[in-house]
Amino acid sequence: IPVTAFDLVVFGAAGDLSLRKLIPSLFHRWRDDQIPPESKIIGVSRSAYDDQSFRDLALKSFREFHPQEEISDEEWKKFSEQLFYKELDVVSDDVDWTPLCELLDTSGAKQRVFYLALAPDLYGAVSANIDRAGLKSPDARIVLEKPIGRDLSSAKEINEAVGAVFDEGAIFRIDHYLGKETVQNLTVLRFMNSLFEPVWNANAIDHVEITVSESIGAGTRASYYDKSGALRDMVQNHLLQLLCLVAMEPPLDLDPDTVRDEKIKVMRALRPITEKNVRETTVRGQYHRGASNGAAVPGYAEELGEDSDTETFVAIKANIDNWRWKGTPFYLRTGKRMPERFSEIIVHFKEIAHALVQNGKAGIPPTRMVIRLQPDEGVKLLLVTKDPGPGGMRLRYVPLNLSFAETFEARYPDAYERLLMAVVRGDLGLFMRRDEVEAAWKWVDGILAGWEQDETPVHPYAAGTDGPVQAAMLLDRDGREWYHGQ
Ligand code: NAP
Repeated sequence: IPVTAFDLVVFGAAGDLSLRKLIPSLFHRWRDDQIPPESKIIGVSRSAYDDQSFRDLALKSFREFHPQEEISDEEWKKFSEQLFYKELDVVSDDVDWTPLCELLDTSGAKQRVFYLALAPDLYGAVSANIDRAGLKSPDARIVLEKPIGRDLSSAKEINEAVGAVFDEGAIFRIDHYLGKETVQNLTVLRFMNSLFEPVWNANAIDHVEITVSESIGAGTRASYYDKSGALRDMVQNHLLQLLCLVAMEPPLDLDPDTVRDEKIKVMRALRPITEKNVRETTVRGQYHRGASNGAAVPGYAEELGEDSDTETFVAIKANIDNWRWKGTPFYLRTGKRMPERFSEIIVHFKEIAHALVQNGKAGIPPTRMVIRLQPDEGVKLLLVTKDPGPGGMRLRYVPLNLSFAETFEARYPDAYERLLMAVVRGDLGLFMRRDEVEAAWKWVDGILAGWEQDETPVHPYAAGTDGPVQAAMLLDRDGREWYHGQ
């Protein structure tokens, strides 16, 4: 769908997110004719660049972060005519915003978007300064990167401060997982196929696993990461959003608020984790030195330069106390320096009631649905079939495999491409509402407080492994194990 012309101001333009994701995503949208020529992308940071040196920096970063992509100087030159830069300290009270104001359209014909690719503690001050500088046009929108705060009270503070300037309908809180093709497809898969919805409940589903596994370590960002840890960095946003999409009731329609109303009901039904049950429902881990892709890698504390109690791995047994999910746990797991980079949701259906054929020691594996979010997006339904041949009734586990790349033969846009265009179009459905963010923090705050009161230990795991052994025991206690591929 073509979009209207816009002025997009990226605050924090010289930073990692902007150079690695945002500007390359905008380039791709431009290449696909989605950025009208009169649109402007205006980068703002404190570093001293002018338009040309910023364009050069953006191209250099593009080539560095996307080495496999062909991009000619000619093509970049054309795109970058729409790319501008203004040097500005956006939280200082005594700097002149006039040069930025002068770049923006005042006819009202263009959509105005402010993207805060900045540390979250600046969000309130920047919003106030946008207002003070008279930049907030009536239909202006603001995009906030995750994380919104580091606990419920700081999230409320940020939401209040931004909300004092922008209406809720103009605030787009990013969780880039919501922009992933397979995540969007979850809703279609569940609700547009008559096969699934009748069995999508505790009667038929034994348990659900959600794993977001990273192979990289904290590296040079260890000092930033140390203030958050895996629970705040990944579970509060990405994993809980995925859990909500898997678990929510069918929405009446796809109106953003209808879907978000259903998601928040799930969040509210999450059984609280406190110091009373934190040991039996959560596991904290931190990687020590080990190997990644065959190369020796340092441990987290070595990267940080000091000992730390921050978890780089967390596993959680979450229970949703509602009619649909009573008795079906959701096991969440995320960590750095695990063997592979992948994100998966695995729906484990219940075992069959009565086996017509014995399958030796292997038993009869239950039906499973594996929803792969990255790297190779797709859906696999693992079914039991008869092994072909005259050798009698031997059973085999076979996937019905839907690989999106093979089936649709299309380039898969990065989540940020979709999200940026959704902001310009005003599609709030792919973004988090204030109450969702705060409900997620409320649950996570309970775990954080539980860990503190219980003095829950951080278990070591070697880099390049699946996390501490205690994570395996979390499932083992329930007679289950983490899915290791079929
Ligand atoms: P970053 O590399 O530190 O970039 C932030 C940029 O903001 C800096 O380059 C800095 O540039 C600029 N800045 C800081 N203070 C400023 C001020 N007062 N006025 C104007 N500009 C200022 O951080 P990042 O990794 O890009 O992350 C930005 C936000 O996105 C954070 O909230 C982060 O949590 C979120 N996020 C990042 C990623 C990612 O992949 N990087 C992923 C998800 C979410 P100058 O020094 O030139 O001012």
